[in-house]
Amino acid sequence: MPLVYRTPCPVPSGSRSVIVGLDRDLSTFSTVFSQIHAPPMTLTELQSLIARMYSSKDAARGVEGTFMWLMEEVGELASALREGTHEELAAEFADVLAWLATIANVAGVDLDAAVRQKYGQGCPGCGQMVCGCDLSEKP
Ligand SMILES: [Zn+2]
Repeated sequence: MPLVYRTPCPVPSGSRSVIVGLDRDLSTFSTVFSQIHAPPMTLTELQSLIARMYSSKDAARGVEGTFMWLMEEVGELASALREGTHEELAAEFADVLAWLATIANVAGVDLDAAVRQKYGQGCPGCGQMVCGCDLSEKP
């Protein structure tokens, strides 16, 4: 999708850096715009995507090996929460979610079904959609 109309005419050299800067801004805008307007990814789609990318490696690693990678990513998320940029934080959330999906694949757990079963009807502790459990309780 062309965002910039380019004329065949030569651009005065003083204007060139402005146009390059504008191109970069529009490119960033285009990337952000396409991410915002992409349809949401479902848990099932995430598990399928991860399975397609990594299933052969995941099978060799097994649940235990995969779990260790998840724990490493959780540690990296902790660091990013403490002192990372927003971009680094988002990347670590993505890694933790990807490794969680990986373990679910290896263990044969359907995340969508599991989350629906456990949380789809409300808080597992009190059964309400807006949790009313005491703060000292886990949920
Ligand atoms: Zn609750």
